[in-house]
Amino acid sequence: MDRLQRKPIIVANWKMHKSIASSIEFVHALAPKITVPSTQVFIAPSFTALHAVAAAAKPYPAITVGAQNMYAAAEGAYTGEVSGIQLVDAGAQFVILGHSERRKLCKETDQFINEKVKIALLSKLIPILCVGESFDERKAGKSEEVVGEQLKKCLNDITSVQGRGTIIAYEPVWAIGTNCAATPPMVQEMHQFCRDWLIRHWGDEAANKVHLIYGGSVKPDNALSLMQQKDVDGLLVGGASLAVESFSEIVNFDLGET
Ligand code: PEP
Repeated sequence: MDRLQRKPIIVANWKMHKSIASSIEFVHALAPKITVPSTQVFIAPSFTALHAVAAAAKPYPAITVGAQNMYAAAEGAYTGEVSGIQLVDAGAQFVILGHSERRKLCKETDQFINEKVKIALLSKLIPILCVGESFDERKAGKSEEVVGEQLKKCLNDITSVQGRGTIIAYEPVWAIGTNCAATPPMVQEMHQFCRDWLIRHWGDEAANKVHLIYGGSVKPDNALSLMQQKDVDGLLVGGASLAVESFSEIVNFDLGET
């Protein structure tokens, strides 16, 4: 399967922003502005707005709604946490896991993220597994070593059949929220590394079906050059996904004849 058969996926990660009303308003404003039929738009609102946003997005097949996190258990005494089953009940179809903000602020480990990926798959949620190196790790030439280790631990004990549908988001920590995106060649190099890793562990066919998406200061002016890379199948957008204007420009990138 080549790049053209992996339909682009553009993810909006709203983090801890927006009320229920402004989240719904955004969906209705964005939908008519999506002009590229092949692109799927994923929106990850706050837990509080998830159910309402999923309901608002129902008439729009181009929009899929999901969550920014979940807990690594199906149910139980976990005060303040949310399970995969509850996310599905609220209308979620995917879940972002292992975001660097959670790794840093909530001390999430690869082992814990691995448990979450397994539970997400059992709950029939598409996991978007985030991996990426820090600035110091890149400077030390360790980007591939770090990302390879994250893939190995976060996908531990998950076969290609079990992991079907998983999305990998390469998000270099130094590029998130900094206005300093990785360059397209850097991103292609890391995505190629992830693809090769997946081929070695899951085989050609399964690996070529995995969407590899990039996140880190994606803006309207760099979306196209990132999407032109052979192994970039989509984008994960934080800051620029909060306004309809900037996000719709990103969503409507045009690969043309390239
Ligand atoms: C993110 O939230 O994962 C992200 C990539 O944020 P930003 O686009 O703001 O860098």
